Amino acid sequence: MRIHNFAAGPAALPLPVLERAREELVDYRGTGTSVLEMSHRSPAYDEIHQGAIAAVRRLMGVPEGWSVLLLHGGASLQFSMVPMNLMHPRRRADYVLTGSWAKKAAVEARREGEVRIAASTEADGFRRVPRGDELDVDPEADYLHLTTNNTIFGTQMRELPQAGGVPLVADMSSDVLSWPVPVERLGLLYAGAQKNLGPAGVTLVIVRDDLLERAPQGLATMLQYRTHAASDSLYNTPPTFAVYLMGLCLAWVEEQGGVAAMEAASRRKADTLYAAIDGSGFYRGTAEPASRSRMNVTFRLVDEALEKTFLAAAAEARPTRMVQLEGHRSVGGVRASLYNAVPQQAVDDLVAFLADFERRHG
Ligand code: PMP
Repeated sequence: MRIHNFAAGPAALPLPVLERAREELVDYRGTGTSVLEMSHRSPAYDEIHQGAIAAVRRLMGVPEGWSVLLLHGGASLQFSMVPMNLMHPRRRADYVLTGSWAKKAAVEARREGEVRIAASTEADGFRRVPRGDELDVDPEADYLHLTTNNTIFGTQMRELPQAGGVPLVADMSSDVLSWPVPVERLGLLYAGAQKNLGPAGVTLVIVRDDLLERAPQGLATMLQYRTHAASDSLYNTPPTFAVYLMGLCLAWVEEQGGVAAMEAASRRKADTLYAAIDGSGFYRGTAEPASRSRMNVTFRLVDEALEKTFLAAAAEARPTRMVQLEGHRSVGGVRASLYNAVPQQAVDDLVAFLADFERRHG
């Protein structure tokens, strides 16, 4: 029996996707082989691969002049690839610090050049994202890096800042495909797939083609975006099964009505849960209301002992157990991740559990 999985990533996948993958696992559509066993140069895999790229383009409205890449190494490798490829010609970039992942990205960029902090909410414990007018952008920066959704702190920036002619680079690992991001306003966006796109093992990068040419020729071949752009992300063996599953997830999103439907569903899920938290006086949301994430809902109980009791009780809840509600180990507390594949029913059951737990322990 399936349980309610509120994991921050790797996270819940749509049940029809898992069922389809099971059906096709041993004999993929009459080929007599599994996708796991197929050459990445075979026609059957090529269709899977190009199909996933085409689905990203359709779903996200990627314009001509932007390349869609499927890479290895997770979002963490992008922390390095972005400055290696784009921190040119001035070797200066601006970073917006809104959480632990943004800070990690800035640490890697410092290995390549000068990093200026365009805004930071660290003094506020990362409980909010900066307002547009708080950003101090260097017009000479090679790019401006931001994290649209802060997975650990439960905050989100759904409006892209104005940065003049400075290319915007966005880490969208935990909210890609959950709201209609204007790709044409971004120089580059990246996302590990294991939250909103599919399984772990593949990383989506969308990059404006003129930026591909900034990388120095001396950069390692595998680290240059243009290597992957020039070969349709088939320069070396791609993570074939992860790409296949991502393709199934993208098809599922299209069947549901695309990004607009994902946005409506995620708004409803998040509103349901935040209303329960705000209405209780027993649970306390950690993010400032104006900065709240629709993807990762973070909250606390009165003390850590009660949080432990809460998490243990949730894991034993009936009729459906609720798991992976622990906050990130660096901050503690409770975190419910409500990515695209998490159904409204899971949130409704969680809200009922919140009320029941409060009755017993409040
Ligand atoms: N950025 C954000 C916003 C994340 O949430 C994560 C992972 N939780 C990462 C980067 C790192 O991703 P990966 O594990 O794919 O390297």
